[in-house]
Amino acid sequence: MKRKIITIDEAACTGCGLCIDACHEGALQLVNGKAKLVSDSYCDGLGACLPACPADAIHIVEREAAPFDEAAVAAKQASPTPPPLPCGCPGTLAKSISRPKAAPPEVSPAAMAATLESRLTNWPVQIKLVPPNAPYLQNAALLIAADCTAFAYPDIHRRFMAGKVTLIGCPKLDAGDYSEKLTAILQNNDIRSLTILRMEVPCCAGIANAAKQALVNSGKLIPWHVVTIGTDGAILEE
Ligand code: SF4
Ligand code: SF4
Repeated sequence: MKRKIITIDEAACTGCGLCIDACHEGALQLVNGKAKLVSDSYCDGLGACLPACPADAIHIVEREAAPFDEAAVAAKQASPTPPPLPCGCPGTLAKSISRPKAAPPEVSPAAMAATLESRLTNWPVQIKLVPPNAPYLQNAALLIAADCTAFAYPDIHRRFMAGKVTLIGCPKLDAGDYSEKLTAILQNNDIRSLTILRMEVPCCAGIANAAKQALVNSGKLIPWHVVTIGTDGAILEE
């Protein structure tokens, strides 16, 4: 039958997951960082997800599709599959992470304290709070890190923050888009390099996307790379 149903523009979708939360039928899922309609029969075609999409990636079209199946939706919702967290990322399903029991430290407390010295050299650190003309930004090597990376990666100070100016934010929970502030930072300062530290979960792609957009907006050629941290604390991609 021909009926009204949503369509998702993959190129425009940023994978933020907001539509998943907005769809009461559970018809949407993130697959490889893009929103997908799980099944035509789960979509009622009313478009409750449309206003949730900040990228204007969802539209209503009229096309051949299976009819909306309320019973199938109810059955799916009653299934015991654990639901994703509100951000909708399959990679952020609540889970426990098992760790081997900590071995007793082999170094003295003094040596340990020196090793654990903070490498933070700037304040504020939140992208939203940093003035684009803060003196520490001039000639800086920038680390742009998603909030969760500091908790997942145990050696973030030595491995990533040392010698860099650190800026942090959560692309999922912070309101607004970082690319504007980051563009101003890149335009107002001679930035030597950009290291972007993100989590593996799709919603965290937003911090890398914002940094890349800022690079494009600035028109500057600055060496940059993205490092992806797994929820188990491993470096997955560098
Ligand atoms: S709300 Fe986010 S995940 Fe859903 S379609 Fe729009 S950009 Fe994609
Ligand atoms: S920092 Fe990244 S992983 Fe953590 S909540 Fe925000 S978007 Fe998700």
